[in-house]
Amino acid sequence: MSEQTVVNPQTMENLVSLCKRRGFVFASSDIYGGLASAWDYGPLGVELKNRIQRFWWREMTQLHDDIVGLDAAIMMHPRVWEASGHVESFADLMVEDTVTNERFRWDHLPEQNREQMVSPAGNPLSQPKEFNLMFKTHLGPVQESSSVVYLRPETAQGIYVNYKNVLQTSRVRIPFGIAQVGKAFRNEIVTKNFIFRTCEFEQMEMQFFVHPSEDEKWFEYWKEERMQSYRRMGVRVDRLRFHRHGPDELAHYAKDAFDIQFLFPFGWQELEGIHNRTDFDLRRHSEYSGKDLTYLEDATRERYLPYIIETSAGLTRSVLMVLSDAYEEETIAEGDVRTVLRFHPELAPITVGVFPLVKKDGLAELARDIERDLRADFTTFYDQSGAIGRRYRRQDEVGTPFCVTIDYQTRENNTVTLRERDSMAQQRVPVAELAARIKQAITEYKRTGT
Ligand code: ATP
Repeated sequence: MSEQTVVNPQTMENLVSLCKRRGFVFASSDIYGGLASAWDYGPLGVELKNRIQRFWWREMTQLHDDIVGLDAAIMMHPRVWEASGHVESFADLMVEDTVTNERFRWDHLPEQNREQMVSPAGNPLSQPKEFNLMFKTHLGPVQESSSVVYLRPETAQGIYVNYKNVLQTSRVRIPFGIAQVGKAFRNEIVTKNFIFRTCEFEQMEMQFFVHPSEDEKWFEYWKEERMQSYRRMGVRVDRLRFHRHGPDELAHYAKDAFDIQFLFPFGWQELEGIHNRTDFDLRRHSEYSGKDLTYLEDATRERYLPYIIETSAGLTRSVLMVLSDAYEEETIAEGDVRTVLRFHPELAPITVGVFPLVKKDGLAELARDIERDLRADFTTFYDQSGAIGRRYRRQDEVGTPFCVTIDYQTRENNTVTLRERDSMAQQRVPVAELAARIKQAITEYKRTGT
């Protein structure tokens, strides 16, 4: 799929700066000047990433009783990658600017540049050559060909090689799925757009095993189900669309494929791929391992190799998607612009900010007590420094959906101010009802456009 023109570079720049400033994402090895396109997730970033992962896991396993989980090792037997086709054909075509030596992915260059064989800077390009994306290393002390292992470029293969283990040890019968979240590695020719495309990333993949005659039905089901899942996650409807792969885009294993694309600040780009992988993977693993991977249908005694429908989403890419979707610079009054991350409350790294109006007169202690009580149900953040308006804005900027302020009235009648992030509306709430009111607001939360 081709990278597209920049839609709003300023938004992206502001978002990246906010991520660093507020502890969502840091450059890797920052004190050494960073490592190209490698990123670390800070205190708020890891909370956001974990919540997105938990949302996906719940949707896939808890809400689908025909899907079970798995956590396979990153390093696998090297034959796995021969069988999967990755050793032979997991390559991108790459060209180089012959003057600046800058490298480009052939399929990412505009048509005109490809026809004229010139780089975006106007210099001649080298002939396209294949570049395998797998990271190779050695297992054990001897660096010889027999000890070669690869860092997995996708989590899917760990599921295929465990499919019989799962079948034999759990109660699943076809149709059923196996879900997995984990790291994957690709030696990408061009990494760019912050955490969008990196060499080390995380995937959330689910492989659904079906009878070959039912592949199209399940493909359709998962395509719709995954789109609905993003909507349940609170992503705005007009930011999501399908893109069907044309014959030239289809991967070597795929009979049909759709991407779910999201409108990032730099254009429409893939968020998740839904693929009909047919029986390609199981057939190849059968051949290469010599193991029978067929499935025996109990009722009919029919024996066959199942087809696989894959849903493959990027977790780290989803973090960027959720941040981009949430990010807004809102004009409150002339000259007063607030930056707000309108996260769905289920995804927000902090759910409730708790502030005493002032530190003195016992208000700080009272606020601490209230905050401690809320901790059992929510992720809280206590802040007693600065003007109250500034404290609200600081929480808006990291997407905290609720703030609670303790003032002199609290001492008199045990009520607090509950402020809601999106509308900035404030209401007086009895302390005894606070947790229930916040829970209700989370359940009823709906952002405009979702
Ligand atoms: P592309 O053609 O853009 O390189 P792809 O189509 O090969 O990507 P898939 O193999 O379908 O990507 O990967 C499934 C998902 O994994 C993608 O939709 C994306 O969310 C995520 N992903 C793939 N490569 C990367 C990467 N380098 N960095 C971050 N996420 C990635």
